[in-house]
Amino acid sequence: MLKRIIYILLLGIAFTAKAQEKQPKLIVGIVVDQMSYEYLYRFEKKYGKGGFKRLMKGTNCRSTHYNYVPTYTAPGHASIYTGTTPANHGIVANDWYRRSSNKLVNCVEDLAVQTVGSENNSGKFSPVNLKVNTVTDQLKLDRSTSKVISLSIKNRGAILPGGHLSDGTYWFDSKTGKMISSSFYKSDLPEWVKLFNNQSIESLYLKQTWTTYFPIEQYTESGPDDSPYEYLLGNKEKSTFPYHLPSITTPENQFEIFVSTPFANTYLTDFAIRALENEQLGKSATPDMLCISYSSTDIIGHAFGPQSVEIEDTYIRLDQEIERLLKELDARVGKGKYTVFLTADHAVSPVPQLLLDKKLAGGYLFVDEKLQVLKTQLTAKFGIDPILHLTNSSVYVDKKMIAESNKDYVAICQFIADEIRQWEGVKNVYTASQLINGVGSGDKWFDMFRKGYNYHESGDVLVQLESGYWARSKDSEKSRKGTSHGSPYAYDTHVPLLWYGCGIPKKEIFRTVEIIDIAPTISHLLNISFPSATTGNVIVEIFTK
Ligand code: ZN
Ligand code: ZN
Repeated sequence: MLKRIIYILLLGIAFTAKAQEKQPKLIVGIVVDQMSYEYLYRFEKKYGKGGFKRLMKGTNCRSTHYNYVPTYTAPGHASIYTGTTPANHGIVANDWYRRSSNKLVNCVEDLAVQTVGSENNSGKFSPVNLKVNTVTDQLKLDRSTSKVISLSIKNRGAILPGGHLSDGTYWFDSKTGKMISSSFYKSDLPEWVKLFNNQSIESLYLKQTWTTYFPIEQYTESGPDDSPYEYLLGNKEKSTFPYHLPSITTPENQFEIFVSTPFANTYLTDFAIRALENEQLGKSATPDMLCISYSSTDIIGHAFGPQSVEIEDTYIRLDQEIERLLKELDARVGKGKYTVFLTADHAVSPVPQLLLDKKLAGGYLFVDEKLQVLKTQLTAKFGIDPILHLTNSSVYVDKKMIAESNKDYVAICQFIADEIRQWEGVKNVYTASQLINGVGSGDKWFDMFRKGYNYHESGDVLVQLESGYWARSKDSEKSRKGTSHGSPYAYDTHVPLLWYGCGIPKKEIFRTVEIIDIAPTISHLLNISFPSATTGNVIVEIFTK
C-alpha cells in the first residue's frame, strides 16, 4: 500500500515536472528592424552556428507575411505584439496627421509625460495611442508576478512591444547617448540602468572603426562597396569601408551616426544582458518577457539598401550578437527553459534606381508639382482646396471645410482618387468611404488596405503605387539613393519568423503565416488570454505532431 502511494506520488511529481518543463520561464521577443526573410539564406554561409542558424533549428515559419499596409516600423511592432492590424490597434504609421489637433503626430508621442533619464524632451513618449492590449499587457494582467522589460534604440521599437504595463521600457536618447524612459512607467531609472549610462559610451563604442568582419572581397552576396545607390555616412566622401567614427562624426551628430552602425546593436545586446541579470528575468514562478528591437539594421538599410556590403556586414555582426545573447540565456535562465521568437517589423524594397538601371519595373513618383496641380483642379471644380496633408501615401482632407462650404465629401474624395489614379507609378487609389463600406472586398490589395485603415487616424484617400515605385518629394540626385518600405508587396511583407527553445519543436512551416499570429501563439504557449483585439490565429503546427 505504502509502495503504491509512493509510486502515485512520484508519478504526480513526474507529471508536474513535465507540465512545468513545457512552460518557458522567459520569452524573449527579438524584432530585427527591416529584416527581409531572404537574409536568413543569402548570408547563411557567413553566419556562425550559434546565432540565426541555432534559431532556425526550432520552428521556422518560412512564409510569414504582413497582411496589411502600410508596412512601417510602428504598425509592425504594434501588430506583432497585439495580434491585430492598424484597423484595430490604431497605430497607422510612424507619424500621421491628427485632425483633432490639426498637426502631424508621432506614433508614441505623449506630451503629458516627462523624460526619465535625461534633461530634454526625448522621453515624452508612451503607448498612449495604442488602442488595444499587447500580449505583454495580457501577461501582466493574468500573472501579477510576471515581469515585462522592453528595449530598443528607437522609442517606438521599445514602447509598442512593452505595452501599457511594462516593468521597464527603455530607448536610446541620441541627444545624450543614454538609455532613457518616461514618467508613464516610473519616476526614476533603476540603479542598473543608471550604472549602464554612467559607463563611457565614448570609449566603449564611439571610437571604433567599422570595417568588414571578413575580407571585403568575400562579400560576393552583395553589390560593389562603391555604389551610386548609397547615402554618405557622416562627413564621409565615399560610401565605402572603412568608417572611422571619430573622423566622420562631430560632437553634435556622434550619437546619430553611432546608431547607423552595427556597434549600436552591440550596445543594445549589452543593455539586454544587463536587464536579464539585474531584473532577474526567468527566475520567478511565473514567466517573464524580454522584448528587444534592433534598430540599426533599419537605419543602415535605408541609407545603403539591401544589396550593399554594409547591410551584409551588419547581419554578419548581428548574428554574433544573437549568439552572445543566446549564450547568456543558456547560462542565466538555462537551456530549454526559455523560448525565443525572432521576426521583423517589415522587410525592404530594392532601391528603385537600381531596378531602373537593370531595366526592371520600378521608379519614382515625384509628388510636389503634381499635388499643386491637383489643388488647382479642386479649387476650379469645387471652389475650395480641402487638402491638408499628403503623407505616407495618404491624402488627408479638411472635413470641416467641406461641411461648412456645403460640398460633398464623398464626391471630393472620389475626384482626388480619380486624378491621382492617372499619375505615373500609381496602381490603385482607395477612398475612405470605399474601405469603410467594403466595396471591393476580397481583392488582396483592397483587404490589405482595409486592415491598415483606422477611421479615426487614417487619411481620406489612400494610394497604392506600382511595385518597385517610391514617392519622393522632388527629383534630385539625393532622392534617388537609399530605399524604404511601406508597400503591400512581398519585398516589404515577407519577414523571418523563427521560434526556438522551450515548447518549440524542430519544424518548417510552409503555409502562409500572418504577422498577427505571433501574439496569440505566445498566449497559447503561456496559457494566458489572447490580447484584447486579437484577429490572428495560433500557429497550431507548433503544438501538434
Ligand atoms: Zn522598421
Ligand atoms: Zn525603416
